[in-house]
Amino acid sequence: MLVAEVAIFAPLPRPLTYQIPDELLHTLKVGSLVYVFVGRSKKEGLVVGIQELEQPPTYLIKPIVGMIYDVPVTDSLLIELYHWIERYYFASFSDVLEAAIPQAIRKNTAIKLQSLLHAEENEGPDVKKFPKQYEAWCFLRQNPGMLKEEFLKKFSRNVFDALLKKHFLYEVFQRQERQVYAQFLPQVGMTEAVTLTEQQRAVCEIIGQNLEKGTFGVYLLHGVTGSGKTEVYIEMIQKIIHEGGSVLYLLPEVTLTAQTVKKLRQRFPNIPVHVWHSGLSEGERRDTWFQIMDHPGTLVVGARSAVFLPLQNLRLVIVDEEHERTYKQEENPRYHGRDVAVYRAKLAQATCILGSATPSLESYYNASKGKYTLVTLPQRVDHRTLPQVTIVDMCYEKGAVFSKILQDKMVERFERREQVMLFLNRRGFAPTVLCPSCDYVATCPHCSIPLTYHKSRQTLLCHFCGYEIAPTKVCPKCGAPEILYRGLGTQRVEEVVQKIFPQVRLARLDSDILQKKYAFIEVLEQFQKHELDLLIGTQMIAKGLDFPNVTLVGLINADGSLSQQDFRANERTFQLLVQVAGRSGRGDLPGEVVVQTRIPGNETLYFAKNTDYSAFFEKELTEREMFHYPPYRHMIALHISSRNASLAELWSQDFLKKTLQPSRDCFPPQTDIRGPVPSPVEKVQDRYRFVLYFLTPKVSRTVQTLRVLLANCTVPKEIALAWDIDAYDFS
Ligand code: ADP
Ligand code: ZN
Repeated sequence: MLVAEVAIFAPLPRPLTYQIPDELLHTLKVGSLVYVFVGRSKKEGLVVGIQELEQPPTYLIKPIVGMIYDVPVTDSLLIELYHWIERYYFASFSDVLEAAIPQAIRKNTAIKLQSLLHAEENEGPDVKKFPKQYEAWCFLRQNPGMLKEEFLKKFSRNVFDALLKKHFLYEVFQRQERQVYAQFLPQVGMTEAVTLTEQQRAVCEIIGQNLEKGTFGVYLLHGVTGSGKTEVYIEMIQKIIHEGGSVLYLLPEVTLTAQTVKKLRQRFPNIPVHVWHSGLSEGERRDTWFQIMDHPGTLVVGARSAVFLPLQNLRLVIVDEEHERTYKQEENPRYHGRDVAVYRAKLAQATCILGSATPSLESYYNASKGKYTLVTLPQRVDHRTLPQVTIVDMCYEKGAVFSKILQDKMVERFERREQVMLFLNRRGFAPTVLCPSCDYVATCPHCSIPLTYHKSRQTLLCHFCGYEIAPTKVCPKCGAPEILYRGLGTQRVEEVVQKIFPQVRLARLDSDILQKKYAFIEVLEQFQKHELDLLIGTQMIAKGLDFPNVTLVGLINADGSLSQQDFRANERTFQLLVQVAGRSGRGDLPGEVVVQTRIPGNETLYFAKNTDYSAFFEKELTEREMFHYPPYRHMIALHISSRNASLAELWSQDFLKKTLQPSRDCFPPQTDIRGPVPSPVEKVQDRYRFVLYFLTPKVSRTVQTLRVLLANCTVPKEIALAWDIDAYDFS
């Protein structure tokens, strides 16, 4: 008897076995979605294995009820990937499935059918009696398969109804193949390929050899900003796409997808270029998913979750801006998109390119150890120079938003009709709302962080949980008639600019704008066409974007990330500065950068000013080694949370003393266990949080040990545990 192992879309510990009924024997495959009964309820599940039972079973095996689609939605390589994520990231299989196969696919919802019209091959309507109908019938004969919507723009509903009723036309329904971004980024003809520079050619040569061999290999492409990394990707795509190979192209932010998709559609007008990110509608997801599944030789540009798309004959995986933290998912399963992409490439025996101007310490370290191959583009295209960076000490600027030097340079640019970008890593208007009389600070009642004042919406907002209240005029604690709004957010910068430069056309781009679907594309297009002079944004637009007319970039406050108590603070600051600076001077005009800070002596700022990656890397690596931080060890965080603070704290300490410490020998040698300590943000959504850190040379053995230890100890139901493997930072 043939049976299927079915992973149910519900938190069950393992797949269940079902009989395959005769009528499904030929269509059911590993990767098919099916309906099955679990107890009395009908559930959806994924077939993860098929096997022949030698002996008839001694117990009843229920049959599979039916298939959700007649084709599989995933394949065995991807299922292997899901299992790897389950093991490596200490995740549950159902969480992995949830992340990997979106709701829109699981539930078979939102099929959009479109109607195509054809004229019947007959005499047609009487031309004298029904001239309009005759005209429409002739028109359809000349344009068979016309979209009904289009037809109805030319002819009336009455004409349509009459033709249909008299059998002069017929309708064919087919699944609508929506193409995401089609309406926003109309194709404007093919653009010519550029002539690669010497450096680009050398890099392509090296990676190209691996592509031809068709084996797994990871290349770390370290190219300074504006060195033309995208052209290297395009050249590599070109190499395989016409042979029916597929390409997965990952980007760290939704906002970066539009520019890249546009460029790729222009360069590959005959190849479908798909888009994938969290902003897609259910219908768009479904269409995209099946189009990809049906066609080897497709190109997908997407954010983190695109790593799970069912690309067939995958030959090339590109992870652009590989250092970005947005590749790390913050909910379960807490996978790292870049690392999953590398593993996927390994399973598919594909070539993987990790690109960045500021590689993560992990990847650069891997390259230095020979695990990845390092390829470099040390210069900008056309010998353009890297921008000149000025560091301004804000201690002498009397609390102003703009230093004199930045303001003067802005005036210059606006007079010369060049464009400016300003960055600030805080959205909202003012991040601190306080009373000058007592020590009151407006704080979220559910999370231990201050509320941010959003002027445009007139609310105080918690950036953790979304809690909001109306701002008060008097202090709620002491009744003093005055409240101060301190600190800087993007909205306030916008307001100040409008006051100083009332004529300047500007827009703000932060995560507020993502709430409106595709609004960001409009803003970026306007900026591209120079309908805007100034763009104010958060880290969302600090990397990747290419606007040749931008010659000045201002970083309003560089200190936010430097002053954080975190092992990655320097790395993050270095990356932010170099990336921000990288937006300037990308065209024929040289660029400049002004960095405002209150700690101008900081060494990281100087490495960044000189774009001296290797000096930064050497120094940072020494420090990481001293304290056993990544990349020397992997960091695993165990988050322990509960509404009851003392329960969480006591359990954490008990777990350390009674379970972890007595089993020290079961962990790989050189594993450090640190904590428990309160999390940097102690309370989120009314839950108190503690954390234990494991610094270990070997993830898989550590996770295995932890699984066993946890299975043998009780966790009260008021406590929630969350594992974060390769945690990005201490939060
Ligand atoms: P990076 O991703 O390395 O920051 P991009 O790939 O965005 O850089 O390239 C920067 C700019 O240089 C783009 O406008 C691109 O069109 C242009 N460019 C890249 N390679 C070449 C080349 N070989 N010849 C001319 N222009 C190029
Ligand atoms: Zn909150």
